[in-house]
Amino acid sequence: MLSGVKCTVSNCKFWKSGEHCDASEIEVNVDGGGKAARQSEQTNCRTFYQK
Ligand code: SF4
Repeated sequence: MLSGVKCTVSNCKFWKSGEHCDASEIEVNVDGGGKAARQSEQTNCRTFYQK
């Protein structure tokens, strides 16, 4: 489990109850590509895998 990561995406195969992520590592990118986001809504977890 990744301590310190809070995730609410409950249909991800790595998600565990209590809003935890059970992946060994995650990748987070900017929506639409690029290297700069202006707000949190423009970022996303690329490790997500639908269960
Ligand atoms: S891999 Fe990403 S989307 Fe899936 S539980 Fe972890 S943080 Fe959430």
